Amino acid sequence: MYRDHVEPRTMESVLSLVKFTHCKKDIYSSFVPQQCPICGGNTVSSWDVAQAPVSIPCPFSNAHNEKCCFVLKPTQGHFIGEYDGCSDLHVGIASSKGIVYHYNETGIHKDSTGWEQCVSIPLVPPDQYALIYQWDSYLEEISPAEKWLSYRYDEQDHNCYTFALTFINSLLHLQGKKTFSKDEFTARYVLPKTRRASKYITLCHEVSKNGFYITDYFRDFR
Ligand SMILES: [Zn+2]
Repeated sequence: MYRDHVEPRTMESVLSLVKFTHCKKDIYSSFVPQQCPICGGNTVSSWDVAQAPVSIPCPFSNAHNEKCCFVLKPTQGHFIGEYDGCSDLHVGIASSKGIVYHYNETGIHKDSTGWEQCVSIPLVPPDQYALIYQWDSYLEEISPAEKWLSYRYDEQDHNCYTFALTFINSLLHLQGKKTFSKDEFTARYVLPKTRRASKYITLCHEVSKNGFYITDYFRDFR
């Protein structure tokens, strides 16, 4: 059972984050303090439903516990505590058993560890058994192709993203569906998730540095 997998150390550094409202500001913290960090007043006494604390879900997941996803992580290190917002990202495809297939300058790899903190984009509904079966067998089928040998790798034009998107488009094509350009796929599936992840990283960074993060801006975070 993949669910039994023990979370590696890196996830321990992920803060649990809550947001509450006081003094007409959104205040993020790792817990709700008794006193508001702005006015010093009691945080709980005046709350109505709209101001009650909500926990902020972590946008990262363990790809080895996921099924049939497009997955993304920093090429080096981890998102939390290490990613600066502009270093290289690496992408792959998780099979229905949480094995991540990915392509880099040394060829195709099938990882059963190493993708414990990533952004994952599920692409197959869990009840689509025929498609899940097809997903796994097609991953196995395309991975050995000559075009994914190491010497064909090109950092700009024939890279991890090319492999992942070629896989997704080939499956869509087999199903008679519309395929995606890289820009279309990125805009529709990847950017909404990475924007959320990058806000979360900012919050974790600020909260671990100052204890609080006070803002008017992150209204879309729930
Ligand atoms: Zn206050």
